[in-house]
Amino acid sequence: MERKKDGIGSQKPQVMTRRELLRGMAVTAGVLAAGAAAGIGPIGIAEAGKCPGMTPKATLHYQDHPNGAQHCAVCTNFIAPGCCKVVAGPVVPTGYCLAFSPKAA
Ligand code: SF4
Repeated sequence: MERKKDGIGSQKPQVMTRRELLRGMAVTAGVLAAGAAAGIGPIGIAEAGKCPGMTPKATLHYQDHPNGAQHCAVCTNFIAPGCCKVVAGPVVPTGYCLAFSPKAA
């Protein structure tokens, strides 16, 4: 039995399109703006147990281990102790995803 090259059953990895990434970032910006308008900063949102990130972990290939030296604790999107401005749900400081953006030195 021959396997299809691009159809169902192929092992081709999912890649996020630029449109999907921008949509996730726009939603996140909206959530942060709403929090700011309500007088709740990103840290306050994290402390309340409500992480602002809206993009599903699978979409950004989130993993709970680092990608070399790249990990959440050194990413501009990380909100200590365990939230992300982009990725939905809790994250760990040693995690990593495709939206990683290093903090300025
Ligand atoms: S690496 Fe990804 S999951 Fe971790 S803080 Fe940065 S954007 Fe969020």
